[in-house]
Amino acid sequence: MPRRQHITVFAILALFAFIGTSFVLMFRSQPQGADYPGPTSQEPVLVDNEILLGTATAPKLENETLKAELGNAAWKVLHTTMAKFPDKPTEEDSQALKSYIHLFARLYPCGECARHFQQILAKFPPQVATRSTAAAWACHVHNEVNKSLKKDLFDCSKIGDFYDCGCADDGPVKGKEKEKEKDGFKQLELEKEG
Ligand SMILES: Cc1cc2nc3c(=O)[nH]c(=O)nc-3n(C[C@H](O)[C@H](O)[C@H](O)COP(=O)(O)OP(=O)(O)OC[C@H]3O[C@@H](n4cnc5c(N)ncnc54)[C@H](O)[C@@H]3O)c2cc1C
Repeated sequence: MPRRQHITVFAILALFAFIGTSFVLMFRSQPQGADYPGPTSQEPVLVDNEILLGTATAPKLENETLKAELGNAAWKVLHTTMAKFPDKPTEEDSQALKSYIHLFARLYPCGECARHFQQILAKFPPQVATRSTAAAWACHVHNEVNKSLKKDLFDCSKIGDFYDCGCADDGPVKGKEKEKEKDGFKQLELEKEG
C-alpha cells in the first residue's frame, strides 16, 4: 500500500476513535440520577391561567372499556401522587401540584370526563398546602365523580392505608409508630384553603 493511502486510513481510524471516545466521555460525565436541569433558556414554559384552565383537548371517548381502564389507571396516578407529595411542601411544590392538577384535567384523554372534571375543579379547587390536604382533596373529587356515575362512595378516612405513601422508603415503620401513622391518616379531613 502506498504511503499516502496509509496516512489516509490512519487519519480515518483516528477520527472514528476520537468520535467514539467523545461519546463515551459525554455520557459518563452525566452522573446517574442527576437533577433534571429544566428547560433551557431558549424554551420558556409559559403556564398561565389561560393554559391551565383552557378548554379540554380530547374528543369524546366512546369505548366504555377503555374509559374505565383509563380511569382506573389515572386515579391510581393521581392518588399516589398525593400520597408521595411532601408533608411540608415549598410554595413552589404546591404551585407545581396545582398546575399539574389543572393540566391533568385539561389534557385528560377522555373529553367528556375532562370537561366534567374541570367543572368539579371549579367547584372544589385543588388543595395543595400539605400531603394530607392534597390526599383528602383528591379523595373528595374522586367521590364527586363516583357520585355522578352512581358508584359507591369511598371512605376518605382510609385513604392513607389504601395508597402507599412510600414512607417505607425511609425504613420500616413498626408497632406503635405504624399505629400513629395510621391514626394520622384517619384524621384526614377536607380543609378549606384560602
Ligand atoms: C379525572 C377523571 C374523570 C372521570 N370522569 C368520568 C366521566 O365523566 N364519565 C365516566 O364514565 N367516567 C369517568 N371517569 C372514569 C371513572 O371515574 C372510573 O375510573 C371508571 O368508571 C372505572 O371505575 P371503577 O369502578 O373501576 O373504579 P375507579 O373509580 O376507577 O376507582 C379505582 C379504585 O380507586 C378506589 N377509589 C374509589 N373511589 C375512591 C376515592 N374517592 N378516593 C380514593 N380511591 C377511590 C377504589 O378502590 C376503586 O376500585 C373519570 C376518571 C377520571 C380520572
